[in-house]
Amino acid sequence: LEKLYPEDVLKISEGLTDGEVKFLSQMVELLETKYRKDLNKHWSNATVPEGFFEDMGKLGYYTNPLLFEGREDSKQTSQLFQFFFAYTLARFDVSLNTLLGVHSGLGFNTFLFGGSDEQKAKYIPKLASHELRTCFALTEPDHGSDVAWGLETEARREGDKWILNGEKRWIGGANVADVIPIFARDVETNKPKAFIVEREQAGVDIDVIDNKIALRIVPNCNIHLKDVEVKEENRLQNINSFRDIAKVLYSTRAGVAFMATGAMAGALQATLKYVNEREQFGKTIANYQLVQEKLSMMQANLTNAMALSAQIAKLQENGDYNEIVTSIGKMSNALRLRETVAMGRGVCGGNGIVVDYDIARFFSDAEAIFTYEGTHEINALVIGRALTGKAAFN
Ligand code: FAD
Repeated sequence: LEKLYPEDVLKISEGLTDGEVKFLSQMVELLETKYRKDLNKHWSNATVPEGFFEDMGKLGYYTNPLLFEGREDSKQTSQLFQFFFAYTLARFDVSLNTLLGVHSGLGFNTFLFGGSDEQKAKYIPKLASHELRTCFALTEPDHGSDVAWGLETEARREGDKWILNGEKRWIGGANVADVIPIFARDVETNKPKAFIVEREQAGVDIDVIDNKIALRIVPNCNIHLKDVEVKEENRLQNINSFRDIAKVLYSTRAGVAFMATGAMAGALQATLKYVNEREQFGKTIANYQLVQEKLSMMQANLTNAMALSAQIAKLQENGDYNEIVTSIGKMSNALRLRETVAMGRGVCGGNGIVVDYDIARFFSDAEAIFTYEGTHEINALVIGRALTGKAAFN
C-alpha cells in the first residue's frame, strides 16, 4: 500500500481488502504501461486513447472476482473501493475518469434506478461488461443549474410511441454511446421522463463541442433531436419526476468528490516530481522552505479531502446517500482542488502552464470539476437549504 498510495498518510487505504488492492494495482500498472506515454498528447489533441474503454471493461470494475473475495454474499463492490477506484483513475487523469464515470455512474445508474425489471435485465449486464456504452443527457443549451425547473426538450405521446424534440448540451461521450438516456418533459403532464434513444436513430444529430480548456480528452456533445420516435417500452419506466432524476444525481455526486480528491493526488505527484528535478540557485527547488510550504498545503488539502471522501463512502455503504453530505463533499473537495492545483502550478513555474509537465492538465481539468454535477453555488444552496430550512433557489 505504501507503494500504491504513498500520499495516504491517514492510511485510509488499509480499509481495502487484499483483492481490491490487487485490482487497483493491476489498474495502475495498465494505466502506467499502456496509457502514460501518450496521455498529454491525447489531452492536447482532444482525442480518446484507443482501447481505453475496452480495457476498463476487461478489468471488470463491477464484476472482477477479486472485488468480492471475502465478501461473496455481496452483489455490489464496496463503497470504499468505489472511492479508491475513482481516486486512482483521477490521480492518473481526470478526463479518463470522467469519460468512464458518465457511462458507469450517471448513465448506468439511470438504467439501474430508472429501469423496469425487464429493462434492467436487458441493459444492465451489457452496460456492466461494456458491450453497450451509455451517457447521461440532461443539460440543455439554455438550462444548466435550473434544468429541473426549465427542462425544454419535449416528449409528446402518440399511441404506443413518443416523439422527442429538443436540444441537449455538454453530454459527455454521447458521440460514442450506443444508448443515450434522454430526459424530456411530457407535454401533457409537464413531468420529466427518460427515454432510451439510440445514437444512430433517425432524427438524432450529434456534434462535439470544440476548443474546451478542460477535460480535453472527453468529447462533450450537443445533441439535436428532431421528431425522434421512441416506443413506450423504451421509456425508462421508473423515472417520472425530478425526484427520480435527483436520486441518480445524488448517487454520483459523491463520485465527483472522490474524483476531485484523486485529482489533488495527481497534482501533488506531478509537483513533487518537478521540484525534485528543477534546480534554481544551485539546488533543486525541493530544498526551499516556501516551496515546501506549498507542498505541505497540497498534502493537507488532499488529506482532508480523503478523510471526507472515505466517511461519505462509509455512509453510502450503509445506504445513506444524504444530499447535504454529498453536496458538502462535492463543493468542498472541488474548492480544495482548485486551490491545490493552483499551488502546484505556481511551484512548477513557467513549465506549470505547459501540458508536457502534467500539472497543467490537472490545473485546467479542475475547472470542469468545479462546474459539473452542481456548480459550487448550487451545492452551497443545497447545504444552505438544509441548514436554514429555506430554499434560496427554485
Ligand atoms: P449556469 O447554470 O448557467 O450557471 C452559471 C453561473 O450561475 C454558475 O456560477 C452558477 O453557479 C450560477 N447560478 C445559477 N443559478 C444560480 C442561483 N440560483 N444562485 C446563485 N448562482 C447561480 N450535463 C449532462 O447532462 N451530462 C453530462 O455528461 C455533462 N457533462 C459535463 C461536462 C463538462 C465538462 C461540463 C462543463 C458540464 C457538463 N454537464 C453535463 C453540464 C453541467 O452539469 C452544467 O454545466 C452545470 O449544471 C452548470 O450549468 P451551466 O453550465 O449551464 O451554468
